[in-house]
Amino acid sequence: MKPIGEIFGLLKEHRKIVITFHQKPDADAMGSGLGLYNFLIQFGHVVSVISPTNWPAFLNWMPGAKNVIDFEMQTEKAKAILKEAELVFCLDFNVLNRTKRMEPVLASLSAKKILIDHHEQPQSDAFDYGISDAGKSSTSEMIYDFIEASGHADKINPATAECLYAGVMTDTGSFRFNSASANVHRMVASLKDKGLQHSQIHENLFDNFLEGRFRFFGNILLNRMEVFYEYNTALIAILQSDLIKYNVKTGDTEGLVNFPLSIKGIKLAAVIIDRGDERKSSFRSKGGFDVNTFARRYFNGGGHFNAAGGRNTEPLEEVVQKFKKAIEENKEQLNS
Ligand code: 5GP
Ligand code: MN
Repeated sequence: MKPIGEIFGLLKEHRKIVITFHQKPDADAMGSGLGLYNFLIQFGHVVSVISPTNWPAFLNWMPGAKNVIDFEMQTEKAKAILKEAELVFCLDFNVLNRTKRMEPVLASLSAKKILIDHHEQPQSDAFDYGISDAGKSSTSEMIYDFIEASGHADKINPATAECLYAGVMTDTGSFRFNSASANVHRMVASLKDKGLQHSQIHENLFDNFLEGRFRFFGNILLNRMEVFYEYNTALIAILQSDLIKYNVKTGDTEGLVNFPLSIKGIKLAAVIIDRGDERKSSFRSKGGFDVNTFARRYFNGGGHFNAAGGRNTEPLEEVVQKFKKAIEENKEQLNS
């Protein structure tokens, strides 16, 4: 992977550019993608944003969201655009399998692939250029740094600022995690100087849910949460029938894993959801327990030290058993 700085030269001419990110994008994936989109279109490039899957409705306010192509819904159109592309920015993921059905298409492209990401252990040989920095709060922060390094910070307009703020704010847990560095706060200050209205973004993201999501949360916390105090661990296992009963949509389960993590003494919290085609897990930890390694070892996943995820093909009950076995094997670290 060549250094990201070499990209600036390639951007001096008008290019056909695709921006993509991980499946079921969160506010950082979509925010970094659309932040970069709203920046690059000012230079006359032809820019398309392609999401591997659909995304939560609470991201639809982002400037440019209506132009995002859903690979699963518009596969032929997306494939044609990818085939024509000269540069493909790959944001907020570092292994191609995070793009689900887009993976074989990405792998076969002739376009230069550029990685900008903050997860652990990148699949570096899959990308031509890029930067991977697990010390960064968010991909949105990295896009801000990328724009600054390009010498065109003056082109950060309100559309770019809003998208990047959404990503950095959500990935730092509203600036509570250690990753909310001085650089993050300087970035936000500079976005504010450019006229960013931050309160509206919090409202767009956090005060836009339907009643059903909270009825679902209530039911799940009451009936599906198990606490294993001897392992400082809590688990929520959600059945496919729960998702159907409460009409759960993409994004509705985001944040659920933080409830068990807030229980006094809990160091590891997990949510395992039976999505039908796969069992998707989310892991969060406090302190010294490394969920990136945990997710890689047992759940075909990865992520960050304190926030990771994975996916399994086995039935839910087997994945739950696997989890219980895994915490037994990690008892010492969970109790230290
Ligand atoms: P979440 O629990 O919010 O879905 O994901 C937590 C973190 O782990 C995110 O940074 C996400 O990108 C990463 N992650 C989630 N699922 C997977 C997965 O299946 N594989 C890998 N490598 N990372 C994942
Ligand atoms: Mn991120």
